[in-house]
Amino acid sequence: MPDLPQSSGPVLTVVIPVLNEEGMVGPLVDALRPVLDGLDLAWDILFVDDGSTDRTLPRLRALAGAEPRIKAISFSRNFGKEQAMAAGLRYAKGDCVLIMDADLQHPPEYIPQFVRLWRQGSKVVFGQRNHIADGFLRRAYSDIFHVVFGVLAGARLPRGIVDFVLLDRSAVEAMNMLDERSRFTKGMFTWIGFNTAVVPFDVGERLAGQTRFNFWKLLRFALDGIVSFSTLPLRMWSYVGVFISLGALLYSLYFLIKTLIFKADVPGFPSLLVAIFFFAGVQMISLGVIGEYIGRIFDEVKRRPLYIVAEEVGMAGTPRDHG
Ligand code: UDP
Ligand code: MG
Repeated sequence: MPDLPQSSGPVLTVVIPVLNEEGMVGPLVDALRPVLDGLDLAWDILFVDDGSTDRTLPRLRALAGAEPRIKAISFSRNFGKEQAMAAGLRYAKGDCVLIMDADLQHPPEYIPQFVRLWRQGSKVVFGQRNHIADGFLRRAYSDIFHVVFGVLAGARLPRGIVDFVLLDRSAVEAMNMLDERSRFTKGMFTWIGFNTAVVPFDVGERLAGQTRFNFWKLLRFALDGIVSFSTLPLRMWSYVGVFISLGALLYSLYFLIKTLIFKADVPGFPSLLVAIFFFAGVQMISLGVIGEYIGRIFDEVKRRPLYIVAEEVGMAGTPRDHG
């Protein structure tokens, strides 16, 4: 890394995905700088501009022009925060890499705790948000997701962990080996293993702009998480099928006995309709689940790059061939 002092020991790279954060990048750097300077580490900051359409990119150019330790890459369009984090991890050169949001909801004053735990040997240090700061719905949503994810993927996703995380170089290399297209980064952080530690923190209010996520984006994301970490939704249909067929067999035996032995009349119209609708529904659901997986398989086999970098700011050397 040419613009960092060679002899100063370990380097921390702070990776920050940004989408239309023109009002945030300046204040964020102002808040980060004293904290980073207070660490006993060399540092640099890598912004990943995820296809912003406001003045974020010119602001990043200006910041990088004034401070050589600030760099940025800019995507050719919006690829999503997961891809932005993937790019950040591939471009980051630090001995440890911290990922954080741009909106100061991941407060910089906690960074020294992350670094301390890293120095004590943890390879992955998660920020764990204090849920009290969230609205009720968002909290319920995230709790339900954690339970469902835990059951389906069989992986413990520590409760309340967010994309405020510090990775040792070895964990970064591990993450960089996972180049799947539908990315559930939080799950991947836990999947790679290593010694982990947790830093509980209070989520701040978003300082400027609005959240980039809505209910549907979150639902999509939750589905991505489950489908890319579990094949249980796919496999369970054979069991459901066996169960239903057995039920149907017993039910038909019941009718057989009822009509043959007890000579009862069989008025079956409503139950017939209900059964038809019920099983049509079950079949649709199971087809839909298969569709979710096939869609993702299709995405994977196309082997498109995860993201396309249109510009590198403040970076020495030729553009890297990534994605
Ligand atoms: N972000 C991004 N690409 C996206 C959406 C969000 O890079 O498609 C960035 C955003 O600029 C911010 C971080 O991801 O730095 C978290 O976004 P946000 O604060 O909107 O999410 P929330 O805090 O509501 O989960
Ligand atoms: Mg936020």
